[in-house]
Amino acid sequence: MAVVIELGGQVALVTGASRGIGRAIAERLAEAGARLVLCARSAEPLARLAHQLGERYGVEALAVPGDVGAPEFATTAVKQALERFGRLDVLVNNAGLTADGLLVRMAPEQWQQVLEVNLSGAYRFVRAALRPMMRQQSGRIVNITSVVGLRGNAGQANYAASKAGLIGLTKSVAREVGARGITCNAVAPGLIETDMAAQLDEAQRRRFLEQVPLGALGQPAQVADAVLFLVSPLAAYLTGVVLCVDGGFAM
Ligand code: NAP
Repeated sequence: MAVVIELGGQVALVTGASRGIGRAIAERLAEAGARLVLCARSAEPLARLAHQLGERYGVEALAVPGDVGAPEFATTAVKQALERFGRLDVLVNNAGLTADGLLVRMAPEQWQQVLEVNLSGAYRFVRAALRPMMRQQSGRIVNITSVVGLRGNAGQANYAASKAGLIGLTKSVAREVGARGITCNAVAPGLIETDMAAQLDEAQRRRFLEQVPLGALGQPAQVADAVLFLVSPLAAYLTGVVLCVDGGFAM
């Protein structure tokens, strides 16, 4: 039996949509018929993606460039989404960055920047999105965390703390708004082939791969598939879940 996921008419906001995993998520959601609000700092690739999604899938896509680390950006982006589409059904908090270093040498700015974008940014987007979702009595929130948030990683204390924090945020929000018809889940990718993963050298990649039972790095589209599942009717009874898309690394 073929299962086709249809999100026709739904409005989805994806942060960090200009490349990598966020771009793949935007593509999958567009393919399923969702109208999109795309956020990231780089305006030009975002505008190009919005145009391409419109041409390829016949969906409306709005590019809203901005910095997830800036305090007002979430409110602005959600406001623009509501002005254009009148509703918000799906929020995917995907924007994220790393600023690696051993903790003893980690400058306060290095710590702060990663927490501000990866965790506080997600908090602000969830808060802004919950207002329309609560009015609608429905909504799907997916936070992109990381296996590093579950296991920790030497040289990534700031990143791991931000991603572990996202898991706490996810579960707390799931408990707070479940009765309003809103689910909140997390996806924890392993090492996925994107610009972020390209920062690792060969030895680091090899060491990581040795711990992956499925023996390969992941692809952005595989993370996007998990997100599509979580925002679809197939996941109606899932909330507060952390879905690892990691080839078995974190189990
Ligand atoms: P990526 O290729 O570096 O892309 C990151 C995306 O986030 C870009 O669209 C970037 O766009 C956006 N972004 C970064 N900082 C931002 C800011 N301050 N404001 C707004 N947008 C911002 O990374 P990726 O590998 O696709 O990662 C996506 C998410 O998956 C991240 O949360 C990451 O932590 C998580 N993840 C990745 C992996 C992996 O192996 N790749 C593994 C586990 C988890 P601009 O630069 O244009 O702003």
